[in-house]
Amino acid sequence: MKVHLVNPSDVSFGTAVITPRWLYVLAGATPREFGDPVLVDETLEKIDFETLQAGDVVGIGIHTANALRGYEIGRQARARGAYVVFGGIHATLYPDEAAELGAAHAVVTGDGDLTWPLVLADCRKGAPLALYHGGRIEGRSFLPARWDLVPRERYMWASVQTVRGCPKHCSFCSVWRTDGQRPRQRSSDAVIEEIVQLRRLGFRFIALADDNFYPVTLTDLRLAAEQGHSARLQELRALREERFQLMAGLAQLPADMIFFTQITMEAAEDPDFLEAMRAARIKGALVGVESVTPEGLKNVYKDFNSAGENLVERLQTFRRHGVHVLGSFIFGLPSDRPQTFTATAEIAQRAELTFAQFVMLTPFPGTVDFQRWEKTIGEHPPEIAGVPITRRWLIPPAFRPKLYWAHPVMSADEVREHTQEVWDNFYSLKSIWQRAHFLNTWRSQLAFVLISKIYRQMYADTGIATDSARVAWSARWARWLAKPCRRLFSARPMPDLQIPEMNGIVMGSRLAAEAMGLNPLGDAPPSTCPG
Ligand code: SF4
Repeated sequence: MKVHLVNPSDVSFGTAVITPRWLYVLAGATPREFGDPVLVDETLEKIDFETLQAGDVVGIGIHTANALRGYEIGRQARARGAYVVFGGIHATLYPDEAAELGAAHAVVTGDGDLTWPLVLADCRKGAPLALYHGGRIEGRSFLPARWDLVPRERYMWASVQTVRGCPKHCSFCSVWRTDGQRPRQRSSDAVIEEIVQLRRLGFRFIALADDNFYPVTLTDLRLAAEQGHSARLQELRALREERFQLMAGLAQLPADMIFFTQITMEAAEDPDFLEAMRAARIKGALVGVESVTPEGLKNVYKDFNSAGENLVERLQTFRRHGVHVLGSFIFGLPSDRPQTFTATAEIAQRAELTFAQFVMLTPFPGTVDFQRWEKTIGEHPPEIAGVPITRRWLIPPAFRPKLYWAHPVMSADEVREHTQEVWDNFYSLKSIWQRAHFLNTWRSQLAFVLISKIYRQMYADTGIATDSARVAWSARWARWLAKPCRRLFSARPMPDLQIPEMNGIVMGSRLAAEAMGLNPLGDAPPSTCPG
């Protein structure tokens, strides 16, 4: 009985930007008695069904965007006599769908880290359960990935997770509902150990694939202190200290390492945190800007973000602390007007964003937006290709609508055209070249141009022409560009690299952070500390 783990994708590039972490974590969760699992990342190349034997187990992880392809794989695998097991966010939200359309013997909801060995044991007995509840495991139980199985030369970045869950509640996001609002943080020692293993293999670019790298804000600390919630305050401080401890550890790693993460804009108010990020070489962060207007932010329950000039200032603050921002914007919000697109393009330039993405408002399952949207559609949703529009991910890609909400003043085509214009404008050769000037060698500038173009191309289906010919053309172009780019990201392996000892200081957060001249507790007044 062989174990196969499959990351489904409709498009294969031969090379991928970031390792699909879940594949390697579940490989780590596979007991050694089953042998090394066969890992298939379809963003690299398609699964070869000939490799499946009757009695094998095929684990398929899906999110909404790749669910349809995942179901196709499930059906084919089952037809060959394999046990089919689905997991991932989408299977967690729609376990029955995975059974019905993906021919699943079993579905694992929630975190699979601890449940996967049970599923395998049941498959070996020939009696898998239909449903396993993985739940939300604590940070200390997150498993490290089996990086010894990674095809090093095919990925640009490796991914490591340090925290799951996000305390916010943005209406378009499912993270806080699936991963929960309580941050579940991994110990910094476990994270550093895994990163050292990756650097030994030759990865020097690491994505900290977290829901929100800044789970405790200064406002959270202040409010807990003002309200006299001493237990809460202690808990928040411990979380924050652990973040500083992690960053102090990252700072001790080889100087050629670079990290990227996702963070809320509130971190711009926290100079200690930003300085710790600088020292840790966290040089890039995806920041969900979403909208440049207060009305737009209200639309998505994200009014903790800034708008207008404050927004420009906050985003520039990241840059001043050495953190390059990939700004993420949403178009098609009810409050958007034709002029919102121009204003957004202008702010994206002035805010000195290094990269930006402009997505159209889409209701994703598991979100507040999705519930609202489903309600507006009513009990008898219209169908496309025989599929109700409320199950839009099951509609064949060529027939899928590009916008799902009727906008109060713009047609779907108008929103798409304006969105495309903003993409084109931000990624025109002239704009990219201007942005490239923060780099001081022509080689790095050229690399920046290449990477910007590839990034734009990989997201080409956000724009106007999303027909299959355009997507295939984009895939070819991205594949062609990806090869030289990959070389830019590789580094010589360091097989003898040791885990840092923080200059002899035990990695107790306060000590470690203070050794770096950082204040791990930020501006929270010490007098309010219950300790
Ligand atoms: S969008 Fe970001 S900040 Fe908002 S809930 Fe999701 S992860 Fe948290």
